[in-house]
Amino acid sequence: MRKINHIAVHCTATAQSATVESIQRYWREHLGWNSPGYHYIIEADGAMANLLDVSKVSNGVRGYNSTSINVCYIGGVDDSNKPIDNRTEAQKATLHYILSELKRDYPDAIIQGHKDFPNVAKACPCFDAKAEYKEL
Ligand SMILES: [Zn+2]
Repeated sequence: MRKINHIAVHCTATAQSATVESIQRYWREHLGWNSPGYHYIIEADGAMANLLDVSKVSNGVRGYNSTSINVCYIGGVDDSNKPIDNRTEAQKATLHYILSELKRDYPDAIIQGHKDFPNVAKACPCFDAKAEYKEL
């Protein structure tokens, strides 16, 4: 079992209507990734896909992937591509659920947003994950 120091929260920075398939295709064809960007991805209706076993390394946070689990909601930008917290209530509920489960499995891991890692110049996930999930 790998050591998990962080549970990183992301947004896709796409429209909320983007499909999991289209996001996976982007990783493969545009970024050339063999592994997905996130272990879990949550659609606008709250449905969650597990794209990779947590024992394997995904591509969420450069320099921290070997010790992180990456969780993502679809959305995070408005019509002009500006960062916005547009999580649906269903996404909030699923995020809370999966983060609770992961925190139970990895009690020492820190839950934080992508932007909370050092030297990250992104708004991802467009809300303060550290504060929102501090009680987990
Ligand atoms: Zn991110």
